[in-house]
Amino acid sequence: MHNKISDLLASQRSYFKEGNTKDLSLRLEKLKLLKSVIEEHETEICDALFRDFKKPKFESVLSETAFIISELDHIIKNLKSWSRPKKISSSLINFPSSDYIYSEAYGTCLIIAPWNYPFQLAISPLMGAIAAGNTVVLKPSELAPNTSQILADILGKVFPKEMLAVVQGGVSVSESLLAEKWDYVFFTGSVPVGKIVAKAIAPHLTPSTLELGGKNPCIIHKSAKVQLAAKRIVWGKFLNGGQTCIAPDYILIDSSIKKEFIDAVQKEITAAYGANPKNSPDYARIINEKNFDRLAGMLDGEKCPIGGEFEKGQLYIAPTLIDEPSLTSKVMEDEIFGPILPVLSFDTEEKLADIINKYSKPLALYVFSEDKKFSEKILNTYSFGGGAINDVVIQVVNKKLPFGGVGNSGNGAYHGKYSFDTFSHKKSISKRGTWLDVPLRYAPYADKVSLI
Ligand code: NAD
Repeated sequence: MHNKISDLLASQRSYFKEGNTKDLSLRLEKLKLLKSVIEEHETEICDALFRDFKKPKFESVLSETAFIISELDHIIKNLKSWSRPKKISSSLINFPSSDYIYSEAYGTCLIIAPWNYPFQLAISPLMGAIAAGNTVVLKPSELAPNTSQILADILGKVFPKEMLAVVQGGVSVSESLLAEKWDYVFFTGSVPVGKIVAKAIAPHLTPSTLELGGKNPCIIHKSAKVQLAAKRIVWGKFLNGGQTCIAPDYILIDSSIKKEFIDAVQKEITAAYGANPKNSPDYARIINEKNFDRLAGMLDGEKCPIGGEFEKGQLYIAPTLIDEPSLTSKVMEDEIFGPILPVLSFDTEEKLADIINKYSKPLALYVFSEDKKFSEKILNTYSFGGGAINDVVIQVVNKKLPFGGVGNSGNGAYHGKYSFDTFSHKKSISKRGTWLDVPLRYAPYADKVSLI
């Protein structure tokens, strides 16, 4: 494996060095081809996602294929203008000069993807890397093997291996890849593995983006429209079987409306998935037994006003609410990453702060409130990757918003132009005129200090 990887890397390096990826028309042609191949194979992609974890077709189209196609359209439309050197106003001190930012591809990039949106989270960074003129090695997740295979098939139809190659495999393959020297590494996955990646690339000072996770609070103020909040939260929490990095992890609700909220959630779960969600075609399964056991373990001894049922044979866990778990319980220890929603109540903003501040900076934070002052205060008090007021998850949809974490939930951001920028080094260039040379900066300085 090691030799194979080294050979692949060497071929990508020479392809890059020869300047092939500098050709904007080639990049555009490949991105357009990628779009048409995805469109052509949409049904197979959705089937693969269904085989991996019974992901409902609607969710696959919404959050994987259509999501990617719309971002591809945006990149294709704007790439020419993003690629041009950007003229900026120059500094008077440098007069005469005109100043520019040149975007320069890093070179050969490694992208490591997770299993939870296995198509979207592999293709989305890759489009940015290719758009910016890099070559790419993609390692999709071994836990979604059907999607991993279709990624390899589709991308193999579009790109020569020197420009983009898919290397499939698990931890050992990932380790072999990380042992190489890359020009950029883009990792999406868990915090512990993010730390392993950061350590592995540190000896080469390789620039990177780390898209990680966290415990995302969802705050419900007493002024909130409770039924609508419940409806939006049920959608965003149980989408993808609760396996969404920006899903609300736990609810923090004003104690005066907690009962009303729990009743509203029950109503919305029944409306979305019927009386028995196990029979719903619209409810995904847990990815594997390891994650199933981890999640089922969180329910031990907890009070579940909704759900709480599970069936290992089907990797099924019902949409579940846990009422007031202790902050030291398993469910409140780490990111849940499954269809379990703890509900904690607060009476004062101090209690709210105590709970939020117990955890590292999350990837997302949500506030449901009709009181704008309250929501603004929350936005300005806590640090988190991104979020929404009166909704959940949907901030990811706008390609003009950067997507990324902060602190423990990651660093760097992407989507749309941010992906192009993430995968290109920004060269600052001053083009000086030679028809005038202001003598101020040159020695002897004498008493020139008073002129600065
Ligand atoms: P993971 O960290 O277990 O795996 C991610 C990738 O890393 C996989 O390709 C895997 O093969 C590889 N990997 C695993 N262990 C490794 C090791 N020891 N050394 C090198 N590579 C290794 O994550 P996951 O279970 O696939 O995904 C779930 C996590 O990802 C959650 O924590 C979630 O919050 C996070 N996530 C974050 C985002 C985001 O955009 N910030 C998006 C999706 C998921």
